[in-house]
Amino acid sequence: MPIGFSVAGTIDDITLIVQLVGDDVESLGLGISMPLRCISSEGDELSFEHDADSWAALRERNSRARHLRFTCCDAGVILKTSSLGTRYFAHQARGGCDTAPETQEHLRAKTIICKALKDAGWIATPEHRMTDADGVCIADVLGKRVADASKGIAFEVQWSPQLEEVTKARTDRYTEHGLRSLWLMKRPMPLNSKDVPVARLVSTDQGFDVYIPSESLVRGAAYMSSRDISDLEASWRRCGTLAEFARAVVEGRFRFGIASEFDIRVTVGGVANWCYACGTETQPATWIVLDLGHLNPDFPNIFVEIHELGQVEGGLAERILESINVRLPNVGGYRLGQRKPKESTATYLANVCRCGAFLSRSYLPHPSDKDRVLLEFDLTTTAHDVKPFYKVIDRWCFIDPANPPSKPMLGLHGFGVPNITLTRLLGCSFSADGPLGKVRHVGYADVDAD
Ligand SMILES: [Zn+2]
Ligand SMILES: [Zn+2]
Repeated sequence: MPIGFSVAGTIDDITLIVQLVGDDVESLGLGISMPLRCISSEGDELSFEHDADSWAALRERNSRARHLRFTCCDAGVILKTSSLGTRYFAHQARGGCDTAPETQEHLRAKTIICKALKDAGWIATPEHRMTDADGVCIADVLGKRVADASKGIAFEVQWSPQLEEVTKARTDRYTEHGLRSLWLMKRPMPLNSKDVPVARLVSTDQGFDVYIPSESLVRGAAYMSSRDISDLEASWRRCGTLAEFARAVVEGRFRFGIASEFDIRVTVGGVANWCYACGTETQPATWIVLDLGHLNPDFPNIFVEIHELGQVEGGLAERILESINVRLPNVGGYRLGQRKPKESTATYLANVCRCGAFLSRSYLPHPSDKDRVLLEFDLTTTAHDVKPFYKVIDRWCFIDPANPPSKPMLGLHGFGVPNITLTRLLGCSFSADGPLGKVRHVGYADVDAD
C-alpha cells in the first residue's frame, strides 16, 4: 500500500516534522539556536510572519521594552536580516547557551518551509523542542494540520553530512514523539526507505529546489560511483521549489510506493506495410508502452515488443491484448494471434491479416523514432497486476499532475530499452511505405511468411 504524509480523512492525526540540518553541531543532537522563533508574554513571535515594516516596528519595540526572550537561555534577543534576506532572531551574547548558530541556507530553508506550511493552512512551529530520556531534541520545523493534533511532521534541513545511522536514529526518536520525519539534505543521500524519507536540497538564486532519486539511482545506487550518484541530471528528478514541495507534502502528494489501483495508458506502436499475401495496406503493431499514470509519476514506462506481450502471464496482459484486438483491425488491418512458424516448435504473438496470412516477427523492424502510434487507450489496473510486466521497487513519489516528469523507459524484465521518444512519434496513417523487408534475425528459424 502506498503511504503518504497525509491521507484523506486522517490528515488531522498526522504531523510532519521537517528537520533542516545546517551545522555539524546539530548532528550531535542538541541542536541549533532558535532564530525563527522567540517568545514574549504574548506568546510565540515568529520571524517568518513579518514583513519589512512590522519587522522594523518589532525591533524598535524590543529595543525599548526588551520584551522578547529565547527559550534556550536568558540571552537578550536582537533582530537581524541575513544576507539572503531572511529575517531572524539572534542571541545578543552567546555566553553559556549550548545552541549553535545556523548557516544562512539553513535559516532560509526553514523560513521557506514555515511560510509554505502557513500558506497551506497548516501550523508551522520552527525549532520545536522536545524532551525525552535522552534529553532535548529540536525539530527544525514542526508542521501540524491543527494546533491540537497529536501527530505532526518534522521537516529537517540537513546542510552538513550526516551518517545514515544517525539519520535513522534521529528519525526513530521523532517517531517516538509521534512525528513523521522528512529529511531535506544538501548531500545526495540515495536512501530508498519508507521509514526514512530523504530528499535532496539544491540551492538556487530564488531559494532551493528539491530532488528525489530517479529510476537509475533507485535501482543502481549500490553499484554507482559517488560522482554518478551526485549527478543531478542523470540520477535525480526535480520536484519543484522547496515551497512547492512542502505544500505537496502536507497535501499528501509525496507518497511511498506504487498506487494500489490506478489507470495506465497503453500506447501501441507500429509501422507501415502491405500484406505479402493479399496486397492490402496494413500497419502491424510492433510494440506497446505502458505508462503507469499520474499516480505513479516516478515509475518508468514499460516497453514490450508484441511477441513478448504474448509471453506475459496474468490478467493485465490478456486485457491489453483484448483491447488491442477490438481496435487494431480498423487501424492496422491486422489482429494479434498466436501463430507457429513452419519451422519452429513454439508459437508467438503475431500480426494476422484478414486474409489469414501472418507477419513473421523476423520482418518487423527494430523499434525506432520512425515508428507511428497506432492506438492509445487507458485501462484501470492494480499494483499486483503490473508485476508480470515490471518488478516494482517501491520508492518515494512526488505527485504533481500539472508538471508530470518525463519518464524513463524500461524493457520487460529491465532489458532491451529502445531509444524511442513517444512524443516524437507520428500518429497513424495509411500511407504505407512499402512491404517490410527482412530486417532482423530473432535467433531461431521462423521463415513462415515467405
Ligand atoms: Zn540560547
Ligand atoms: Zn492479407
